[in-house]
Amino acid sequence: MTRKKTLHDADCPGTGQGSLISAPIADLHVHSTASDGVSPPEDLVALASERGLSAIAIADHDTTRGVRSLLNGASGIRNQLDSITKNGVEVVPAIEINSDWQGRELHVLGYFVPLEDGPFQDLLKELRDVRKRRIDDMIERLCQLGMPVPKDRVLELAKGESIGRPHIAAVMVENGYVSTIGEAFDRFIGRGKIGYVEREHLSPEESVRAIRESGGVAVWAHPGTTRADHLLPDLVARGLKGLEAYHPEHGREDCERYLNLAAKHNLCVTGGSDYHGSSKSEGEDLGNVHVPYETIARLRSLSTLA
Ligand code: AMP
Ligand code: FE
Ligand code: FE
Ligand code: ZN
Repeated sequence: MTRKKTLHDADCPGTGQGSLISAPIADLHVHSTASDGVSPPEDLVALASERGLSAIAIADHDTTRGVRSLLNGASGIRNQLDSITKNGVEVVPAIEINSDWQGRELHVLGYFVPLEDGPFQDLLKELRDVRKRRIDDMIERLCQLGMPVPKDRVLELAKGESIGRPHIAAVMVENGYVSTIGEAFDRFIGRGKIGYVEREHLSPEESVRAIRESGGVAVWAHPGTTRADHLLPDLVARGLKGLEAYHPEHGREDCERYLNLAAKHNLCVTGGSDYHGSSKSEGEDLGNVHVPYETIARLRSLSTLA
């Protein structure tokens, strides 16, 4: 199989894997229709299988419904540290929580979080409820700006249970207010833009703690986009276990910086495409950013349940 040159293969030398070596690989940052991705979980698995990936982590925003839907038909009691195997592809249960640090985005990934009812799922439900209320406020704001966005259509596009700005952006494109989702963010609904409405976020510390207390493994997602590296020692002290060094938003310099910081703090290095669907302006194509499959065993070993 000829794979496209990837960030992992090409831009970050010294990581021990060239594109001609067919060692098993995993894409540990993927979104499904349960949040703002365009592919249903089953399709992600099929695509991953086609692309020769051994594993993916479905890390939707504030919901594990996508991962959970893959359990249908599976039997037996699931241990929290198990992956789900479908179509020969391992699926790691994960989450992405968008936190706020002084007006900047700081996203935290959680691997092997619990799918069963309990305090962690209660917290996710609260976060989704905040999202719903905020969407109403944004629709009102956009209406005042002369861009009515029908809520029914937003909900229809959202399909899943975790509604976000990308769904509003998609309706703005449909209605001709902008020509791309990226333009919607750049001109109207990105942070600080005229149609933006703040939503309550967890702090980074709260996100890390919630994931850790649930038995999951907290990883700072695409830290290069936050540009707040000085927060790292404190987050590590609070239980952060990894850094997502490989990410489409990271150039070579960012990637190398986070590989070094991970080594310095003895953190697990993770990576993934942040695939939202090929038509979305966010993320890379599935599998185009990946890490060695063994990363999953390392993550599992870092859980308090291990
Ligand atoms: P929300 O969770 O509703 O605040 O929306 C944030 C989500 O919007 C992020 O997780 C991304 O998936 C997406 N997003 C942020 N910026 C952009 C952008 N410039 N273009 C496309 N999607 C974006
Ligand atoms: Fe997203
Ligand atoms: Fe993110
Ligand atoms: Zn993401």
